[in-house]
Amino acid sequence: MSNSSQTHDATALNAQLDRRLFELESLLKAGEALQGELDVFNLCNLLMTMVRERVRADQLAVLLNDEEGHMVSVEAVQGLPEETCDLSFPADQGILWSLIKAGEPFSVVDLEGRPRFDEIFAKHELERLEGQLWIPLVMPGAVVGVLSMSPDRDGKAVSASQYQFLNRLASRAALAIHTAVLYRSIELARKDLDRSLHHLSLLFDVTRALSAVQNLTTLLGMIIDRAIEAVDAEKGSLMLFDENTEELAIRVVRLPNKEVEKKINDGEIKCNTFKRGEGVAGQVFDTGVAHRVNNTDDDGNFKATEGNHARSLLCVPLIADDEPIGVINITNKNNNGTFENEDEEILTALADQAAVAIGRARLYEAAITDGLTGLFIRRFAMHRMNEEIKKARRYGHELGIVMCDIDHFKAVNDTWGHPAGDAIIIAVAQELKNGLRIDVDIVGRYGGEEFLLVMPATDLEGTRVASDRCRQAIEDLDTDVGGGRKLKVTMSFGATSLGPNDTAETVLKRADEALYVSKEGGRNVVSVLEPGEGDGDTTKEETVPDVGESQEMVQLDATGTPDDTAE
Ligand code: GH3
Ligand code: MG
Ligand code: MG
Repeated sequence: MSNSSQTHDATALNAQLDRRLFELESLLKAGEALQGELDVFNLCNLLMTMVRERVRADQLAVLLNDEEGHMVSVEAVQGLPEETCDLSFPADQGILWSLIKAGEPFSVVDLEGRPRFDEIFAKHELERLEGQLWIPLVMPGAVVGVLSMSPDRDGKAVSASQYQFLNRLASRAALAIHTAVLYRSIELARKDLDRSLHHLSLLFDVTRALSAVQNLTTLLGMIIDRAIEAVDAEKGSLMLFDENTEELAIRVVRLPNKEVEKKINDGEIKCNTFKRGEGVAGQVFDTGVAHRVNNTDDDGNFKATEGNHARSLLCVPLIADDEPIGVINITNKNNNGTFENEDEEILTALADQAAVAIGRARLYEAAITDGLTGLFIRRFAMHRMNEEIKKARRYGHELGIVMCDIDHFKAVNDTWGHPAGDAIIIAVAQELKNGLRIDVDIVGRYGGEEFLLVMPATDLEGTRVASDRCRQAIEDLDTDVGGGRKLKVTMSFGATSLGPNDTAETVLKRADEALYVSKEGGRNVVSVLEPGEGDGDTTKEETVPDVGESQEMVQLDATGTPDDTAE
């Protein structure tokens, strides 16, 4: 062997080594890049780009094994129309599958360029991939997919070294894609779990919160707040079905405009009602099936009044003991979003809990309120008074206690009949409620036409003033007792306040004594006994027929808080 041919051999060897080294290095780099990517779509694109760097290829596509026996094209193709992404073929049988499983790149066309697997290619339109060479993406134990490629039209056949590179790159890509698919399924499962946990904790929270509330109005407010929060919306309302009017009426609303919201909730603004089957709410109530609208223009059922600035609506029924009792309407998903199935699910679950709580609160309210007047029954009024006595002692507040009784009521019954008497009792009860603070003062029907008033954080003078306001209102009242007849009645009041040595019994006894003073003094007045006064010794009792100011009284400021600088 000559010297020059030896040199030539050495140079060739060097070049070959150099190439091998470069191949290895690029494979290493490719492997690193592939391993660092966890998105399946990105990985497929990356793989195709890497292939293109080494081989001149016009059309590239990746099909992945979906584990259900199908090879499905990925939404990433290069040099092919987008529609090529919808291809798939059943993969787990036949020679084609065996070739893919074997893991070596193979040609899918014959020497004349015709498909080698006519039938399956024709049936599943695989020729649209325009592939000539299929490079299986396999790893030990798993067929991940296949890369279809066609060398560019004037390109040479793939060289042996390119072929080898593609083969190795494919096995690294297979591993990376397999990992990414696994990661994606774990990620999805985790998200599902997160969501379920979130829903569960929300419901647990709601159930616990709702079970603690006895008052129906407070409860309804809490329900609508939780509902709006749960589905991330702008506003909402809760409607209950009124058995008497046979209509769905709004019981509580939540609106961005707080002023309007308050007026509606306080009954100052009336909202229209819905008959069974009318509008979305009426239909949801009637069918018991939730309704979801995301473009309200498209929904014929959507009543114009409901659609006030509404883009999207989610309406679910409130069903207690298999009976629909109302609906929850939620409007406008925040950030211009749309209500999804998931929102409907969570709201439905919340509504189920809410309906049970509403049913319970209604039963409770029925048990503690008097059927004729809607006031608390005596037992419950006493229970509430005892609670207020404890609170007054704990916080050092004053507490006003009043007994009152309609004057000469027997005569009303005797002259005009019992129903006329009932109408008077209802009207008087309403005036007592109107004259006192909603949600703060307690009004109970103590006996037939005798009532108990409890005024928390109110001193004796304040109690007297409030009582006299009620007395005046009742005096001014003309009550329609039927038959076109209007009657007038008056009422006598006995007021006192909780003293340091009082029990519920002694303070009530003193209020009763003050009432007796009013009756003795001619009726239609408010009599006041201070703590320590009276105590059965009626000679000490004093009638206060007029509204004059008493010097030793603590004055209330505008908020009803006793002014402690006066003492
Ligand atoms: P006074 O001014 O002293 O209170 O005279 P009065 O006639 O009101 O006397 P009293 O309070 O003793 O009378 C109560 C009457 O109220 C007796 C009863 O027939 C009547 N009454 C009690 N409960 C009801 C009711 O639910 N409906 C009607 N219509 N009458 C009732
Ligand atoms: Mg009476
Ligand atoms: Mg009486």
